[in-house]
Amino acid sequence: MSKKVFLCAISNISSGHCLEDCKFCTQSVKYGAKIERFYHKPIETIVEEAKQAKARQAIGFCLVTAGKGIDDKTLRFVCEAAEAVKKEVEDLNLIACNGTASVEQLRILKDHGVDSYNHNLETSERFYPQICTTHDWRERYETCENVKKAELKLCTGGIFGLGETMEDRIAMLEAVQTLDPESVPINFYHPNEALPLEGKTLPIEEALEMIRMARQMLGKRRIMIAGGREITFGDEDYKIFEAGANAIVIGNYLTTQGKDPMRDHTMLEKYGYEIATSCHDQ
Ligand code: SF4
Repeated sequence: MSKKVFLCAISNISSGHCLEDCKFCTQSVKYGAKIERFYHKPIETIVEEAKQAKARQAIGFCLVTAGKGIDDKTLRFVCEAAEAVKKEVEDLNLIACNGTASVEQLRILKDHGVDSYNHNLETSERFYPQICTTHDWRERYETCENVKKAELKLCTGGIFGLGETMEDRIAMLEAVQTLDPESVPINFYHPNEALPLEGKTLPIEEALEMIRMARQMLGKRRIMIAGGREITFGDEDYKIFEAGANAIVIGNYLTTQGKDPMRDHTMLEKYGYEIATSCHDQ
């Protein structure tokens, strides 16, 4: 496995007002989790965050909005943010993550500078109705297909630790395989007292085993460890690379704090990993 690690940063540009009921998500208004909620982050702030991400050697920058899908207003806002970031910051792979989207909407994002689209399958089709009742898994899969039709690069993965079985985990990874994504974000459930889910933080060994399995099943695709890295692995997160991950999200997540990016840089250096400087690195 390559010793190069890809860094990606997330900007939560519209937060905490989703009407869906995904049981693992603090952005749903149904559960009243104590998070910051706002409609539109100022464009200047988004651009500043993109510059900071670039200075911290991120090659990916993701514009995330809460909500099931893109309405016209959200589409205009994401396009405006994408254009502003592309104008001010060079050589960043710009990712949008805005829920269910049609081919036409995705093409509009592409025309405004978006390079990739992230839409996670989350878990298996069988288990999905147990974690969400307001939309179905098929819709998620179809959006991923739309991403390919719109000729954007696809990022799709899921989350472990919701109470799913090993068969569900395998089924989710098999479904990801069929979509042939460029990058596969893997999240680990971060329990929150406001959420209805009884899932617990996965034991480190089990979480590492899931990364090994993902690597085995997904060949050379990029495997990115995203939410839940801190709470699951603590200071043993260097082990995720030995298990097969080759990308991480740096800085904060959508509604939870991440590690100090400088600490991540020091950790990568200490264990002999190089930070990738281009999306084309292997
Ligand atoms: S649709 Fe997305 S933002 Fe809304 S509750 Fe589900 S995971 Fe959270």
